Amino acid sequence: MRYIEPHAHMVSRVTDDYVHMVTAGCAAVCEPAFWAGYDRSSAAGFYDYFRQLTEHEPKRAAKFGLPHYCWLCINPKESEDVKLADDVLAIIPEFLDRPTVLGIGEIGLNKNSRNEITVLEKHVDLAARHNQLILVHTPHLEDKLKGTRLIMDVIRNDSRIQPGRVIIDHVEEHTVQMVLDAGLWAGMTLYPESKCSPARAVDMVERYGDERIWMNCACDWGVSDPLAVPKTALEMRKRGHSAAAIDKLIFQNPARFLAQCPKFKIPEG
Ligand SMILES: [Zn+2]
Repeated sequence: MRYIEPHAHMVSRVTDDYVHMVTAGCAAVCEPAFWAGYDRSSAAGFYDYFRQLTEHEPKRAAKFGLPHYCWLCINPKESEDVKLADDVLAIIPEFLDRPTVLGIGEIGLNKNSRNEITVLEKHVDLAARHNQLILVHTPHLEDKLKGTRLIMDVIRNDSRIQPGRVIIDHVEEHTVQMVLDAGLWAGMTLYPESKCSPARAVDMVERYGDERIWMNCACDWGVSDPLAVPKTALEMRKRGHSAAAIDKLIFQNPARFLAQCPKFKIPEG
């Protein structure tokens, strides 16, 4: 089995997790910028984080032959402070040309607040001006449906953004169809105890198809599983999905989306 892990917060994981992922068939890992498990006190904290994402993690992954890519932004959890967000947005462009940066993400909404929407609009503008792919986080605790609608409005309102270059992550049964109908990509995030389980994800694929969909583990500081994608592949195999169908969902689909950024090299399978 081969797969791409398109969303994992490896800064929060131990090196053994890289070993386990490669052993399970991981051919590339992508790391969106996100919360650090605590609120950072200044833009300088983000500067160091972006260096960690673009310099340190690629080296740590390379020890096991695993290509590591990342996405940059100030995440929605820390976007309530618009002044801090402005300071972070100002330092992102100097990192965008680095060889493993794929785009702007994971941006989006956390509590669906006015300030979060303002910062989201600024990120979408930054992505448009620099011709970047976009990876979007949708809220878990607040109303996901409302948050997804608000995010889709912001994206639609910017005519420079092509929907096929945007992925809306953490979709669930009540949001996946509207995301796909809008021409956007949808990410299913697999969690071991809450939210979308492997069985629920496979149910959704069986119902909504496998076009413009990827699976990811989004492993971070919380209870999460860096092997959630290959475990979901096992669930598919158990239900009788073919090896080709599994490969499409966990390798070819993410490769197709990510390769829209020329820096992403499709791993040899
Ligand atoms: Zn994430």
